Amino acid sequence: MSNNLEMGIKQLCQDCGNTRDRLMDIVTAVQGKYGHVSAEAMKIIADTVSAHRVEVESVVSFYSFLSEKPKGSVVIRLCDDIIDQMSGSHAVSEALCSELGIGFGETTSDGKITLEHTPCIGMCDQAPALLVNNVVVTKLTAEKARIMAAKLKETHDPASIITEIGDGNNAHDLVRSMVKNNIYKKGEVVFSEFIQGEGLKKAIAMNNDQVIEQVKASNIRGRGGAGFPTGLKWDFTRKAQDSQKFVICNADEGEPGTFKDRVILTERPGLVFEGMTVAGYAIGADTGIIYLRGEYAYLRAFLEKTLSDMRSNNQLGKNILGKAGFDFDIRIQMGAGAYVCGEETALISSCEGLRGDPKNRPPFPAQKGYLGHPTTVNNVETFCGVSRIMDKGAEWFNGIGTEKSSGTKLLSVSGDCAKPGVYEVAFGMTVNELLQEVGATDTMAVQMSGASGEMLDDSKFEQKICFSELATGGSVMIFNNSRNPLEIAHAFMEFFVEESCGYCTPCRVGNVLLKKGLEKIIAGKGEPEDLEYLEKLSNSVIASSRCGMGQTSPKPILSTLKNFRPHYEKIVVKDEDGFQRDFDIKAALGIANKLQGRESVIYK
Ligand code: SF4
Repeated sequence: MSNNLEMGIKQLCQDCGNTRDRLMDIVTAVQGKYGHVSAEAMKIIADTVSAHRVEVESVVSFYSFLSEKPKGSVVIRLCDDIIDQMSGSHAVSEALCSELGIGFGETTSDGKITLEHTPCIGMCDQAPALLVNNVVVTKLTAEKARIMAAKLKETHDPASIITEIGDGNNAHDLVRSMVKNNIYKKGEVVFSEFIQGEGLKKAIAMNNDQVIEQVKASNIRGRGGAGFPTGLKWDFTRKAQDSQKFVICNADEGEPGTFKDRVILTERPGLVFEGMTVAGYAIGADTGIIYLRGEYAYLRAFLEKTLSDMRSNNQLGKNILGKAGFDFDIRIQMGAGAYVCGEETALISSCEGLRGDPKNRPPFPAQKGYLGHPTTVNNVETFCGVSRIMDKGAEWFNGIGTEKSSGTKLLSVSGDCAKPGVYEVAFGMTVNELLQEVGATDTMAVQMSGASGEMLDDSKFEQKICFSELATGGSVMIFNNSRNPLEIAHAFMEFFVEESCGYCTPCRVGNVLLKKGLEKIIAGKGEPEDLEYLEKLSNSVIASSRCGMGQTSPKPILSTLKNFRPHYEKIVVKDEDGFQRDFDIKAALGIANKLQGRESVIYK
């Protein structure tokens, strides 16, 4: 064992407090420094933090940004989600392969550059996009990709490919990113003017119960998709009997087509952290964790600076804003490329330094969450809403939106429209109004809430975006009449097959079978019974999967079967001879024909 390696890794473990539950940070740091987490490194980590080696290995093998095998010091990850495919990612892939002389999943012969595909990186408004380590490159063309790859071959330095800087805080010295915010509509809650600390001051002038009553009175519901009443969630956590409680912000927006949290974290990080601090005060927690998806690592230094400024202003730390006994601070937990970690119990597992496995519920996180303690987990946008409610009052918040859906909703709009980007709209806007606003014409379908949401046909476009009609986590993907809904559903099923954590059979196997069933139909070999099979299998996967992912993953198939059935029906036909259409009898008899030296006679 090399002494240098051992000393280097022990130092990284020490930087993370030598604790087992910071394993994610440790292995991410090792990956960053050494380009992989070797078997030798895993053993040193395990010995240092008193874990089993296999525990370290299980973490390394789970997350797509971690690797046991060496990769290049430069890793290019090209996003291959459906919007990127529609925007030309195929031509970009070909240009990258041709310039680098390698295929996807390979490393250049000098060992310096690795090329990979990755699911949605949160840049659907500026696709095709890719990551080069932590550098984001957007709006690619084949030519731009070729120039970029040539530059990387020369410099091996991701910073060298930054050719222009994006708008807003993307131009901040600690970000310096090519990403654009694309904010087309600013609403009253998230993107209106913000003075750091105003909401917090008013919150700590109340007692904890009054804060929770105020949140309840505002009727704010979770913005991540599930829509659970925030005040109720906080109340459960506050009432749970434990001296230690936690606040977690879910900034792991991995749902295809979602990118609004990226923009909030770029332009309103203080509003998010203030909301977390209010939550800490309300439930009696002294620690907050923001779980930041690995794809947004380019924002980390900027977010750390925001936290540090808040500490300097006594908005975090001890006796916050002079309130004796109110101590609260926030740390950033990086993710490492796993969609399932957006599910709150999987996210908690990941924060604990484990694989991102979802946990059984009950107990719910409000009773038993992070490290077994009561924990409230809310979305980035929800915390923004709470900060504003503290500042401007529950009545003000209730005055925005509809009677049962108060406030605004951020929508991440992408696909076939003139103005893909972020829109903060009051609840109650119809899909048609939105399509007009974003410049979409000839629209065939709107995929609401990402891959796990519903694909709407035009008969649903008069529905309102709100909790009682069309609830959404914020992803809105638009498809015009040149697109094939079955191909779109197939792309989503590929995504789910890739992202299933594999823990339970219905999700691990069922999604593969659903994808294959769809492929058979798309290949023109489907029969009418296959539609019934897909429907039944989808419902079984939903009913028997353990977590939200498997409980929603068949939705692309179910919603296209429901809303775009003619697209299926026109290509599924009964074989007039009674044969199964995907059974190739000639191929099946091939070996027998060869052995017997003659062709079998096939009677129809
Ligand atoms: Fe994992 Fe899927 Fe089961 Fe959820 S439903 S626990 S993602 S295998």
